[in-house]
Amino acid sequence: MFRQLENAGLADLHFASDPETGLRAIVAIHSTKRGPAIGGCRFIEYASDDEAITDAIRLARGMSYKAALADLPHGGGKAVVLKPAGNFDRSALMQSFGRFVDSLGGRYITAMDSGTQVTDMDAIATQTRWVSCTSQAGDPSPYTAQGVFEGICAAVHHRLERDRLTGVRIALQGLGHVGLALARQLHAAGAQLLVSDLDRTRVGQAVQAFGARALAPEEIYAAPADVFCPCGLGAIINDDSIAQLNCAIVAGSANNQLAEARHGELLRQRGILYAPDYLINAGGLIFVALHHAGAPASAIAAKVQGIGNQLTALFEQADREGRPTSEVADSRAEAIIARAGRHAGQHPLETL
Ligand code: NAD
Repeated sequence: MFRQLENAGLADLHFASDPETGLRAIVAIHSTKRGPAIGGCRFIEYASDDEAITDAIRLARGMSYKAALADLPHGGGKAVVLKPAGNFDRSALMQSFGRFVDSLGGRYITAMDSGTQVTDMDAIATQTRWVSCTSQAGDPSPYTAQGVFEGICAAVHHRLERDRLTGVRIALQGLGHVGLALARQLHAAGAQLLVSDLDRTRVGQAVQAFGARALAPEEIYAAPADVFCPCGLGAIINDDSIAQLNCAIVAGSANNQLAEARHGELLRQRGILYAPDYLINAGGLIFVALHHAGAPASAIAAKVQGIGNQLTALFEQADREGRPTSEVADSRAEAIIARAGRHAGQHPLETL
């Protein structure tokens, strides 16, 4: 366990169990050097406790890197609430999780993630102030989608030397909160969409609304496209999928897209431009952090739009240095985090 923490550079790991509500939760805090740790709360079923712990640790590190590259005064953290197998009172469970978050005294601020919704954040907010994405604040997904859209435009410009998305073929995996909003924008910009989702209703919606071509989940990797856009779950860029990919660019919202770090280099060797996940999908985090800080909508929009330019600069550096974009992004984020002094215990929300 400690070896796993050290390898990930994790600051601390917290566990909570509350038999009365069925709560079994983990909070992983990667770093508070740049400010309080911030990151979503997952609420999904896990095959084992080890799998849940590994997920929390990996995701927390990604959040630190994301906050650093977005120049937000935060470190990264992530919570995992293991979904109970039987019946349970969802509101009571989330309130219990809220008390757990509160016990960490503001070192960790929670938010929405896979499996959680605005009403869960409202339940958590009855117990702690260290929560965002409540019904008052709103869903960050449209901002994530906007950032991914800017990132796709930057990648298409860099790799395909095209200024517009008209006629650009985009294979979009996952039509959830982010994927569907992104599909709408891509369609409006003239892109041709190929889509897949485990949920056939969502696929039907995209076919009808955006003239998308439906593909079975296993067909999406090999489909001829300019951009493969993963907006489902993580670890989908692996030995198996890289061998199948038939695209020039990988750019999407999913967290932890590379199953292993070496897959960034494998993409480069195959001549596929990869937009590092935690940079292209930072729009939601930017919204959450700046909204709490009371920033105006125009400032949030400008920062999300800036994701495109940030990616262009990163692609150029990777080209110059002959390195994978994922490695360049990691080096940049690690340098920013290393430069930061230890968070001196300011009031967390005042530092957002
Ligand atoms: P979501 O749960 O609303 O949607 C995910 C969709 O992907 C679902 O429709 C699901 O059926 C589909 N899916 C899952 N596995 C699939 C597969 N193998 N093939 C095809 N479809 C599949 O999640 P979301 O909020 O839209 O987020 C999507 C991804 O982006 C996640 O990895 C999430 O961690 C990441 N992300 C989201 C945000 C945000 O603001 N919501 C921010 C940053 C990163």
